[in-house]
Amino acid sequence: LVRLESIRKHFGQNEVLKGIDLEVHRGEVVVLLGPSGSGKSTLLRCINHLETIDGGRVVVGAEIIGYQQRGTVLHELAPAKIAEQRKSIGMVFQRFNLFPHMTALENVMEAPIGVRRMARSAGKARAVELLERVGLGDRAGHYPAQLSGGQQQRVAIARSLAMDPELLLFDEPTSALDPELVGDVLDVMRDLAAAGMTMIVVTHEIGFARQVADRVVFMDGGVVVESGPPAQILDAPEHERTKAFLRSVL
Ligand code: ATP
Ligand code: MG
Repeated sequence: LVRLESIRKHFGQNEVLKGIDLEVHRGEVVVLLGPSGSGKSTLLRCINHLETIDGGRVVVGAEIIGYQQRGTVLHELAPAKIAEQRKSIGMVFQRFNLFPHMTALENVMEAPIGVRRMARSAGKARAVELLERVGLGDRAGHYPAQLSGGQQQRVAIARSLAMDPELLLFDEPTSALDPELVGDVLDVMRDLAAAGMTMIVVTHEIGFARQVADRVVFMDGGVVVESGPPAQILDAPEHERTKAFLRSVL
């Protein structure tokens, strides 16, 4: 479903991604690990073209994200076309980014009705169903400020699901949460994985990676140092940098 081909990105003189290759099949869960500054967030942002890339290409389904190929040359797509592509790629951030003046229900309904022109009644029914799916059926009328961080993050996940994405990107979805709230969010993500959602997850939750990931990718300094099944990368890493990182988070 997703193919990253030699992705390169720099900010000024700082080369942050130095040629990243990664393939994710439909229904797979890939956990991205790496120290702070290794380029994990930047890579996720390149996948949905929140950052432009300096080299390589991102292919999701049959489309090159952000660009159109004519001959051998890539031309950046018009903003409306990029917005269209983004609808199939959901993203959940560390900070929940809910609209504070909208209830949980309204937050989840907003995109399908506003962007996808879904009928209001159908959008609402779907939003109710999604809130139930993330365990918040009884919180539909609450505003973000009336919800815990973990509940807000689950609303954010429901909101991403409302667009029926083919792919979900998670950037440290639990790292801003109080420890006792982390489990509920990970449970929702576990259910999504079990339901066959294709997911790329940046997280330091090693237990989650071990249980849920099909593959773990360890990045450092803008390159993939090693990748493989969780047991291989987490229990028998080959590279010293991976070992050092795992010692620091376990
Ligand atoms: P963390 O674990 O701390 O979230 P990360 O692996 O997600 O780290 P990135 O946020 O991708 O790392 O950052 C990689 C490098 O790119 C860092 O050196 C960072 O300072 C730099 N960087 C990221 N975004 C920008 C930007 N918009 N402008 C300039 N430099 C940036
Ligand atoms: Mg980051």
